[in-house]
Amino acid sequence: AAFSVGLTGGIGSGKTTVANMFAARGAALIDTDQIAHALTQPGGIAMPAIATQFGADFIASTGAMDRARMRAAVFADPAAKKRLEAILHPLIKSECERLAQQAQGPYRIFVVPLLVESGNWKERVSRVLVVDCPEQQQLLRVMDRNGLSEAEVRAIMATQATRAQRLAAADDILLNDGDPAALDPQVERLHALYCSLAHAGT
Ligand code: ATP
Repeated sequence: AAFSVGLTGGIGSGKTTVANMFAARGAALIDTDQIAHALTQPGGIAMPAIATQFGADFIASTGAMDRARMRAAVFADPAAKKRLEAILHPLIKSECERLAQQAQGPYRIFVVPLLVESGNWKERVSRVLVVDCPEQQQLLRVMDRNGLSEAEVRAIMATQATRAQRLAAADDILLNDGDPAALDPQVERLHALYCSLAHAGT
């Protein structure tokens, strides 16, 4: 398969910020969160299965998945979480493959928030890039952006891999610990590396 990078990181680590910087340099971006969102929009191809398996209570009046309700349900119930994933993951996978086929640019970047947690993604990409961020900064950014309490953000972080687990899975690490100006040279260096690896056909 063509050279691809799996970009991951904890909630609020800066994945979207960093991914957009690679896209600005010409990398083809494929964002699994965006795909999951599209699948669960009104008329989205995951909606019939969600309606059948979860019931009309989980469909908003627009016809989209009721995200707040689903978030609460899967947070409280691991079995419900597994059922939702069984619907979404195969659809996300095939949509990723479709988009990767038609992607332009020197290489592909898949943005996968739970890459380290979800097993087979690691084998499907040529290289794993972790956006690394101290937990304290993750907390502050997400509290600020989403208007959540520290306890709420910590509860989400507790469902994700730890910083150490993520770093152990990384081929490349991009440190996003505050200064936005520090990102540019790191992205530049990695983009050059990925272009040369893609060119070499690794
Ligand atoms: P999520 O997993 O929640 O989707 P993410 O990993 O994609 O998050 P971003 O959305 O890129 O992270 O960043 C989280 C928030 O932190 C955003 O509001 C972003 O503007 C801000 N942010 C990211 N990097 C920095 C930085 N170096 N300095 C200050 N703010 C930053």
